[in-house]
Amino acid sequence: MILVFIGPPGAGKGTQARRLTERFGIPQIATGDMLRARKEAGTLPADLAATMSAGGLLPDEAVVGLIRDRIAEPDCAKGFILDGFPRTKGQALALDTMLKNSGYDLDRVLFLQVPDSLIVERIVNRRVCVSTGEVFHLMYSPPPAGRDVRQRDDDTEEKIRRRLSEYGNTFEALRQHYGSLVREVDGTGSIEEVSGRILQAVEA
Ligand code: AMP
Repeated sequence: MILVFIGPPGAGKGTQARRLTERFGIPQIATGDMLRARKEAGTLPADLAATMSAGGLLPDEAVVGLIRDRIAEPDCAKGFILDGFPRTKGQALALDTMLKNSGYDLDRVLFLQVPDSLIVERIVNRRVCVSTGEVFHLMYSPPPAGRDVRQRDDDTEEKIRRRLSEYGNTFEALRQHYGSLVREVDGTGSIEEVSGRILQAVEA
């Protein structure tokens, strides 16, 4: 099974994709996580690291190669869940070619929909566990005592506005590109409620 999650920052793509990996036994591939790991390790070129910190999108060629290498790994043979890729029409076209060359078919493209006002509230309260990558919300799912959690440097209100505007510029082109594979899912409510809607959309 190959699934793609599309949605604004803070829509819950990562949280929901992680839940599906357990259910379907396939890996989650998150370009944001891969890029952050490189940034923290100091292996991401400085100009790209600065673009990320400012909440901008990296050029397509900087992310397409990451995905090409990752989906060629053995744990992707039964499928995978893409979270945060593709984000542009160019990336979607590159993905089409990669899947065709590997003999894979895309099953569903899930658009998680959450209003901007809720996104901002979710993101400024988002904290990520340094050792496990688990995502917490300071009020609704606070980190357990003793956890070393951090706020991402692009999770400030100003940068969220920029990231929302990047998303606003590109999502319609992606929706049109994927046509009948698209399922729109209401991303508001509890994590369980959204998971239930996603499973229905995947299995329908
Ligand atoms: P995310 O964790 O998905 O919110 O991604 C964090 C940041 O990584 C984004 O704001 C971009 O700077 C960069 N990024 C992640 N995925 C992509 C992508 N598919 N295309 C371009 N930039 C990306």
